[in-house]
Amino acid sequence: MENIKSILNPNKRVGVLTGAGISHESGIPTFRGAGGYWKEYKAEELATPQAFQKDPRLVWEWYDYRRGVCAKAQPNPAHEVVYKMETYFSDFLLITQNVDGLHRRAGNQKILEIHGNIFTARCTSCSNQFSLGNEALKEIPLKCERCGSLTRPHIVWFGESYDTDLLDRCYSFLASCDVLFVIGTSGQVSVPVYMAQYSVSKGAYCIEVNPEESTVSHFANQLLKGKAGDILPKLWEELTN
Ligand code: NAD
Ligand code: ZN
Repeated sequence: MENIKSILNPNKRVGVLTGAGISHESGIPTFRGAGGYWKEYKAEELATPQAFQKDPRLVWEWYDYRRGVCAKAQPNPAHEVVYKMETYFSDFLLITQNVDGLHRRAGNQKILEIHGNIFTARCTSCSNQFSLGNEALKEIPLKCERCGSLTRPHIVWFGESYDTDLLDRCYSFLASCDVLFVIGTSGQVSVPVYMAQYSVSKGAYCIEVNPEESTVSHFANQLLKGKAGDILPKLWEELTN
């Protein structure tokens, strides 16, 4: 902790990269932990373009269920600390793999949602995007308000490419970041791991927060082993008192 305190001050450029683990204590299941199943399906079987092509209704039903879970969940103390970081450090960026919207609800505005957002739908034909709100859908699969074509969740599924503009913005920040927190990610999705590796190769000090080791652990400078909702408020108190 002394080491961390000495390298973190308000003038630092600080990045935070989050995964499903930070929302676990808000009651949102991770993909790879217990609860990563819906009915008999594994998350990785449904979050794919192939699954949507085969059965758009099934995939929409799963997202409708998950959006309901996200709408009822509340940001937890870890999300609150990540919001405090944004107001404390002069230069800050939050990169999240989470689609649950909890970081925004905790107050973060300097945020890039690289895997999309579960509260947004997108037309498969005209690319029109629209907000879904908190209520269950009345029509599944949902049709576009503008052209009547099939819509899909505005999510980057397994095997799909990322928005290159978003990636460029991430990498340009990570190129000169002093400290990078990696919180609650298993590292099974490769792009966020590359991002962290890139930042470390450019000189960032990487602090990981996770109860388990991940693929990030072997190159992180420090692993704070435990739940984000326990570790981050303690770290924040030490840092700011
Ligand atoms: P993952 O399910 O692969 O891994 C979760 C990680 O969180 C694990 O390493 C686990 O040890 C850790 N973890 C569990 N509880 C924790 C806690 N209390 N504090 C800190 N860490 C904890 O998640 P991933 O790496 O984010 O990859 C899954 C993909 O699925 C992502 O692409 C993401 O977009 C999507 N996803 C999003 C949500 C969400 O929005 N909340 C939920 C599930 C999956
Ligand atoms: Zn359309």
